[in-house]
Amino acid sequence: MPPTEESNPEEANQDLIQLDSIPPYEDKLSIEVNANVPFFTEEDRARGAFEEYSPLDELGRAGVAFARISRDTMPTEDRQTDLKYNPTGWQVNKYDFVDYHFLYNRCHLIAWALAAEGDNPQNLITGTRTLNIEGMRPYEDAVMRYVYRTNNSVLYRVTPVFWANNLVANGVLIEAESVEDGGEGIQYCVYCYNVEPGVAINYATGENEADGTKQKQEYVPSAEEAAADFVINKGSGVYHYPDCEALGEMRDHNKIYFNGTLEELQAEYPAEEGWRLCNLCREKHGTQ
Ligand SMILES: [Zn+2]
Repeated sequence: MPPTEESNPEEANQDLIQLDSIPPYEDKLSIEVNANVPFFTEEDRARGAFEEYSPLDELGRAGVAFARISRDTMPTEDRQTDLKYNPTGWQVNKYDFVDYHFLYNRCHLIAWALAAEGDNPQNLITGTRTLNIEGMRPYEDAVMRYVYRTNNSVLYRVTPVFWANNLVANGVLIEAESVEDGGEGIQYCVYCYNVEPGVAINYATGENEADGTKQKQEYVPSAEEAAADFVINKGSGVYHYPDCEALGEMRDHNKIYFNGTLEELQAEYPAEEGWRLCNLCREKHGTQ
């Protein structure tokens, strides 16, 4: 979607948080910042529709992405999947134990589902699979579902945080606040770590290697999985047939077991709210 006002990136606040105020990653993929309250100003809240991306900096890195998300900014067409642009630090590396094997994703700052920005260099960073799917997605989905259900709008800002001259962001700050109800429906301010468990990343360059703490585990369906018709990942919004190897990488607390037909599942977990069949399953089972 085109911006509805002239972008004014000089006004974008690049210094909302300092990386040295963020504790090192331990095992939580995200942490609350500023007691979970966004840094929006009254001026931000008083603005009409807008959608802004920062110019790439001298190293080619993306900056703050800021928009008022509404039904008008959300996609009306199928997702653009053929991303070509390589964000800074981009490399193609595969690990057996990473979901779909690829360490790095072209990671949207403002998710496709919220602003329909596809291959826009100003909206892309090199992000780990885990950042993309488990770190950011639940926060994005919360906004998407809120807007979908209420037709309200949400102030939404994503700030990639690069330490010094690193080419790979150390993490992203995500701030969101619903406008019409003054933050009643949606309000958060979180930092998501750009990490992949089991991989040591050199953030200066993007180079990486296994750190020896994670091995590929042979996937053996549990009794619950074997008895279900589908297993839904409530973190990512993706659902699977129970024979899918991707279940081996899914955390147990994200699993919902569903019994019924695919049509019944789709009625209860509609595509409009971001639920979708896994690509591996789609190929394997020949379903739409
Ligand atoms: Zn699957």
